[in-house]
Amino acid sequence: MSSVSLPTLEAFLAPLPAYRHAQVWKGMFDASLRGWESISPLPSALRFELKDTLPWMALQEKHVLASTRGDTFKALLETNDHKMIETVIMKNSRGFWSVCVSSQVGCAMACTFCATGKMGFTRNLTREEIIDQYRFWIYFLAGKPKLEQRISNLVYMGMGEPLANYENVKGSLKLLLKYTDMGPTRITVSSVGLIPMLRKLLNDPEWPPVRLAVSLHSADGETRRNIMPSSYPNFLEDLASWTKEYFTQFASRRRHLTFEYVMLSGVNDTPMHAEKLIQFARKVGKVKINLIPYNDTKSKYNTSESAALIAFEKKLLDARVDVTRRRTMGADIAAACGQLIVEKKAATSL
Ligand code: SAH
Repeated sequence: MSSVSLPTLEAFLAPLPAYRHAQVWKGMFDASLRGWESISPLPSALRFELKDTLPWMALQEKHVLASTRGDTFKALLETNDHKMIETVIMKNSRGFWSVCVSSQVGCAMACTFCATGKMGFTRNLTREEIIDQYRFWIYFLAGKPKLEQRISNLVYMGMGEPLANYENVKGSLKLLLKYTDMGPTRITVSSVGLIPMLRKLLNDPEWPPVRLAVSLHSADGETRRNIMPSSYPNFLEDLASWTKEYFTQFASRRRHLTFEYVMLSGVNDTPMHAEKLIQFARKVGKVKINLIPYNDTKSKYNTSESAALIAFEKKLLDARVDVTRRRTMGADIAAACGQLIVEKKAATSL
């Protein structure tokens, strides 16, 4: 896998003692600071060495779009090796901001309904590039004092498959949990369902107790394989046994697990699909299903008709499945789930 060949913060910090790392990270998450030289607990020689070695941010702003209602912003950011990624903030139901971060440049999973899936995969983002998306938004908000300042939640639902970038995602989670006020129940990692990686995190004592979301999208094997090329004949059985193991290992309520289900008209929203989903939910136990309206990506799909969506949801509720429906935000700036794409044309004209 290719990686950034420019100097990294990780390499810079490696020879330094742990307390220096902590001082650097603390400074990096301080909304009032704007450069290495302003991290006052560091000796001045070290501050200037940092300044000479590394840019303050691993990502540079290209542009920011605001939704008409002002409740969603999307930023196009450039990495030091000139790759483009997108990150989004949206107002959540508590009136604070939720940040949506990308974990890769592009994505190899090629889900047929997802805009990022069309880009193909370029490279993993580093730990710094992941946390810098959060840092970008704290500075952005600090520059707009009239806006709500608090970021209360963070989701790995931007570009990329987080579990295909396991170590960097894990590293970013640890930093976010240590240096922001977000607890593990405020952070959600969403995965296409990479079973070997899901198994790995189950047995990894260092994997933080953040929330997990798995993109199920169909409990009918054939339908799932048609819409998600990363699926395979035994996927649903594997996911069911993984889920049971997850619940056995982490009975604590803090570790919530959600299955995401994007509603595609005539594709996965029929009564047969609802029935299969009910059976699957019964088989795996206490899992939450989150129905997501399909956000347009100029693909062959349409979002479910409202009658089909209501009937689907009712069937699940009648069967006592724990089901919720996700609001869509930022659709007018293509900032909703699955709409993040850096189009070639746009990227080269920057
Ligand atoms: N790779 C991760 C993160 C993807 S984005 C994953 O697969 O979970 C977060 C969620 O948005 C996933 O459930 C994804 O399947 C869903 N999604 C992708 N494209 C979408 C679209 N056009 N409309 C609605 N949801 C979409």
